[in-house]
Amino acid sequence: MPSNKSSSVLSKSTFIRGLQCEKSLYLHKKRPFLRDRISPEQLAKFSRGTNVGVYAQQLFPGGVNAAPKTHFQMAASVKKTAEFMEAGETVIYEAAFEHAGVIIALDIMVKNEKGWHAIEVKSSKAISETYLWDASLQYFVMAGSGVQVSDFSIAYINTSFVRKGPINPAELFKIESVLPFVLERQEQVGQKIERLKEVVELKNSPPVPIGPQCHKPYPCDFIGHCWKNVPAGSVFDLKGMEEDQKFRYFESGIIKAEDIPEKELDEKTTARQVKSMAMGQAVVDSKDLKAFLDRIKMPAAVFSWLDFKPALPIFEVTKPYQSVPCSFALRGLDVIEDRPVLYTTPAFPERDMLEKILDAMLAFETILVFGPQPDWGFLLKNAGAEDALQRKVKLLLARSLDLSQPFNDFSIAWPGMRHADTPEEILAGLHQPVLKPAGKIKTRLEAALALEKLALGNLKEDHEKVMRDVKVFHSARVSNTKKLLEFARELADV
Ligand code: SF4
Repeated sequence: MPSNKSSSVLSKSTFIRGLQCEKSLYLHKKRPFLRDRISPEQLAKFSRGTNVGVYAQQLFPGGVNAAPKTHFQMAASVKKTAEFMEAGETVIYEAAFEHAGVIIALDIMVKNEKGWHAIEVKSSKAISETYLWDASLQYFVMAGSGVQVSDFSIAYINTSFVRKGPINPAELFKIESVLPFVLERQEQVGQKIERLKEVVELKNSPPVPIGPQCHKPYPCDFIGHCWKNVPAGSVFDLKGMEEDQKFRYFESGIIKAEDIPEKELDEKTTARQVKSMAMGQAVVDSKDLKAFLDRIKMPAAVFSWLDFKPALPIFEVTKPYQSVPCSFALRGLDVIEDRPVLYTTPAFPERDMLEKILDAMLAFETILVFGPQPDWGFLLKNAGAEDALQRKVKLLLARSLDLSQPFNDFSIAWPGMRHADTPEEILAGLHQPVLKPAGKIKTRLEAALALEKLALGNLKEDHEKVMRDVKVFHSARVSNTKKLLEFARELADV
């Protein structure tokens, strides 16, 4: 029985990996055990609800599907595609081809009088340079397999689409021909394939130094291995400096941030961080920090909110990737009771719920939020709320204070601040205790993905359990934000 497994050396993803960094391709093939551990957040992202590619098949309905049963059975998919073409099918989904040691799959191909129109579907809002390389490789393999490709297009999300009634795929996607770009890269694709096949055969990994390619266009998954000799307190730990500048220092032998000539540091940003690294503790601009803290009027409350941003607009009058703020938590600063008041719905909140939230918030003189407020204007419009609520929102925004400000504007600088974006990461970086959510949801992204699945109705877990985990996450987030404020007060000595 012929094997379903392909003997090809490269695929679309390994080709793109090799374009980004030859060492990354080598390690991926030969030393996969050196790969960084996948974070729970990345895992959650992989399990995301909507497969935009499958949805886009409705652009060309009635096709046959050549998708393999598993990712490891691509050879069977190549065979199936050939059979479909032979049988006179005119629309094929997930078609696969193999040529010159490369195997690729294509989302949609449609027969026309000149040959085949190839369409690759992306869930993004624009066509990137990487997508053009993707398409160029797909064209190369298809043409090499003897397919007459008359056109090559990329279908991507039309961000100006607003849902009104059932989604019309022809309006949701933009389809743009990239054939001229693809044709002009054919020679380079051929050369690159040969080069990457040599890389895979090398005895040792190619001597590629770390560089901007480690993060662009995709974060590499061998950072832990390649960057292990970069010491703590390096130029890469500085916030507010261009990445290219960091690599220029690194290449010139300036590895530690403290070795950067003083005159090249910015007094308020990088110089303050270097000082904090040398002292091993936070350095504070007390005047700025006090000025910020003085804006807090009592009674004050901490506010936390969650949203999700579905690629396909689930709700009426929303756009693709529109933020759906759907979970809110509020806790007074002086309240002994540890639990915040919570409002959660896996949809846009209704008018009544919004009014309750706004009234609860307006019982306080200051609302502390870490990061921006939700788009209240859209929330109210969506709920058909009248002017009285709009006035409440105005008042609320006037009372809002973003607690991330002093930690982002360098009023407080500390070693490792570059890697801290959330209240939890900041507290940990400042060696303060952090309350970890006891449930399954540990991060804002995990919460967002769970809420999105809930809204889409395709969550495997129990609805109640997810709601409980969202609550637990909120409680921890609100407590940690409160702790952050307390610590800022300590630092400012108020
Ligand atoms: S970490 Fe950087 S140098 Fe190492 S394999 Fe990845 S991209 Fe290449």
